[in-house]
Amino acid sequence: MEAWSHDRWRIPLPDGHKFPIDKYERLRQRVEAEGVVIHESEPVPWEWLAAVHDDALLARIRDGEMTLREQRGLGLPWSEVLVERGRRSVGGTLGAAGDAFAHGIGMNLGGGTHHAGRDFARGYCLFNDVAVTVARLRSEGRARRALVVDCDVHQGDGTAQILGPDPEAFTLSLHGARNYPFERIPSDLDVDLPSGTGDDAYLTALSDALDTALRFDFDVAFYLAGADPWEGDRLGRLALSKPGLKARDEHVLTRLTPRAPVIVTLAGGYAPDVGDTVDINAATVSVVRSLS
Ligand SMILES: [Zn+2]
Repeated sequence: MEAWSHDRWRIPLPDGHKFPIDKYERLRQRVEAEGVVIHESEPVPWEWLAAVHDDALLARIRDGEMTLREQRGLGLPWSEVLVERGRRSVGGTLGAAGDAFAHGIGMNLGGGTHHAGRDFARGYCLFNDVAVTVARLRSEGRARRALVVDCDVHQGDGTAQILGPDPEAFTLSLHGARNYPFERIPSDLDVDLPSGTGDDAYLTALSDALDTALRFDFDVAFYLAGADPWEGDRLGRLALSKPGLKARDEHVLTRLTPRAPVIVTLAGGYAPDVGDTVDINAATVSVVRSLS
């Protein structure tokens, strides 16, 4: 199996910051030791980002002119490496798309930046890797109809803004009802889960939601395998166990892969001990590997 990583581009963060910058290197080292071949993600060209993002927003990001309010909404301080890392994170999802079209499934050890919309970058998400990849696959004539299955615990508002109104895309977001973002932009299908939802109720809701989503006819699918529905997550408020999260990954991927090429991204994960997030992400990699 192959996967894409951009962990060498580490953003400078103040002490105690919640963004789990260490998980990317630790996950890459762990899966590499298990025999996964890692490619270093390339920075996506600005023109490709401009296919889905507002030119003025991109100029502010490129030139270091994001307002203080925008940087606060993003939750990360602007730096040159932040921009480079963001472009490479999208590049990893594009690389994974190449693998998916060659072998059926591909994986970015990052990406899933679903809070980035056409004209906003927030919630640790600078660019929307999934939307940019959909635009790219369309312009290359490789795919038109895209399904997004977003299992990060936070609602996928940026993806919903860009792809929700698109008749050739279907966006499903399964998330905590009482969690960020508090002002929603509707997906094609939003599933709001009560705080404290555990494995059984989650997997039932997921299965029902996929029954609906899979009526959509698609020729590429994206899976955002967020680690933040885990019971110990600082920002999650749900109560899935590690085996429950692995069962979730198996359920989604065994239903998607027979239908179309599938691109898997990590999205969020905020365990107090980053090792737990790495465990959950590594389990997702093992499921992808079993299907490669
Ligand atoms: Zn999240």
